Amino acid sequence: MYPSGLLSLGLKERGGTLNSSYPKHECGVFAVYGHPEAARITYFGLFALQHRGQESAGIVATDGYEVREHKGMGLVSEVFKEEILSRMVGHLAIGHVRYSTTGSSTLANAQPFVAHHGSEYYGIAHNGNLVNALELRRELEERGSIFQSTMDTEIFIHLMASHLKEGLEGALVNSFSRVSGAYSLVMLTKKEIIAVRDPLGFRPLSLGRLNGGWVVASETCAFDLVHAEFVRDIEPGEILVIGSEGLKSLKPFPSSKGAMCIFELIYFARPDSNVFGRNVYLCRKELGYNLAEEYRPEVDLVMPFPDSGNYAALGFAQRSGVPFEMGMIRNHYVGRTFIQPTQSIRDFGVRVKLNPVLPLLKGKKVAIIEDSIIRGTTSRNRVRHLREKGVREIHMLVSSPPTRFPCPYGIDFSSRGELIAAKKGEIEDIARFIGLDSLYYLSLNGMIKATGLKKEDLCLACYTGHYPIVPTEETSKYRLEK
Ligand code: 5GP
Ligand code: MG
Repeated sequence: MYPSGLLSLGLKERGGTLNSSYPKHECGVFAVYGHPEAARITYFGLFALQHRGQESAGIVATDGYEVREHKGMGLVSEVFKEEILSRMVGHLAIGHVRYSTTGSSTLANAQPFVAHHGSEYYGIAHNGNLVNALELRRELEERGSIFQSTMDTEIFIHLMASHLKEGLEGALVNSFSRVSGAYSLVMLTKKEIIAVRDPLGFRPLSLGRLNGGWVVASETCAFDLVHAEFVRDIEPGEILVIGSEGLKSLKPFPSSKGAMCIFELIYFARPDSNVFGRNVYLCRKELGYNLAEEYRPEVDLVMPFPDSGNYAALGFAQRSGVPFEMGMIRNHYVGRTFIQPTQSIRDFGVRVKLNPVLPLLKGKKVAIIEDSIIRGTTSRNRVRHLREKGVREIHMLVSSPPTRFPCPYGIDFSSRGELIAAKKGEIEDIARFIGLDSLYYLSLNGMIKATGLKKEDLCLACYTGHYPIVPTEETSKYRLEK
């Protein structure tokens, strides 16, 4: 029931102690080196990464002398106005969009984090989650650090400060050797931009060229918007320092395997991005092909729950020959439902977001393609709605296996108790809960094949429970009870 790492640590016995205020976040980061309007470019970069976080946005920019920062709660377009951007002069900038869950959505937790140290200045924007954050934080506090936030990202700043006598490179290497977990991040000093990806490369991070300068982004779709050219991914375990002498790549943490988050390809990343060297759109279509190879219910049409299911549904239709329809229309002005803080609002969000096209669906047998089922509540609401409107049969095909295990690396499903596939062991029970005529999940192999990546290089923990880095005892206070 509980394979691998966590059980061997005995966490099941200690279950039920989730520290729910401990922040979990999946975010977007962007950085510019060597462009006269670095802050403005960063603004557009963040705009392209908005899907990775809608709770807060922030930019820090410098001309080498003065540093200007601005961050706030809300969307990039709400946080930044022309007056603010035009004041943020300089050729170096970093930015961040943040996605978090209940309890941690405060301005104090908005990024980039900034700190003054002597005449130097550090800004940092992080995507991922550390798995030894609580221990490190306690250790740093015992040594006198005063934390301003509850974010694990702030730990990097304090570690850096405690190692600065070793010079920038020494401080970077010594600081990052202490942290464990998922981090794709960008840092800014008055003279450098630094990009770092953890040794297993959980989260994406790419390098691009822009008019003789450099850009770094969580996803390549941000390069397209600012007319930057993709150069390469920041490698797992790489610390890339971009300064007046160009690029300096440090690789102090070699690793023979990877743990790239497959959920980036399944759901999180934008379909027009290339993530981990794969085009997300094509990968999702491939997931749909593989679904069609594995299960074809007798139906009149196949439709996605837009937008996340669109590409797999298209792939399914093309491979199976079942007619494709957009049976639900999305209201684009509703935010992602998961960021709503309470259950009642979340359900409301589900209703306002999608509306069926009845003449297409009434009396029909339909296959619905979903990218994932997490809590099951969104799917249940949507399916109930379709039934009420007279859809005859509803078969759901999910383009990933059952999500049974929490993610300690930054995706927003943190406790087993929230996961419908963990709560209900049998697929039929999940189907009954959602109200389906049949439910099929893509096989693990079908999913891996669609990514074109090697199994050893992927993090599949949310499906298999095999955690590439087992969270430390204190930090991994995940609920394992059903
Ligand atoms: P559920 O039925 O589990 O409540 O919701 C499933 C839906 O949530 C799917 O359409 C999937 O695309 C979406 N989803 C999966 N993971 C996340 C996430 O981390 N954030 C948000 N906003 N939606 C998610
Ligand atoms: Mg969806």
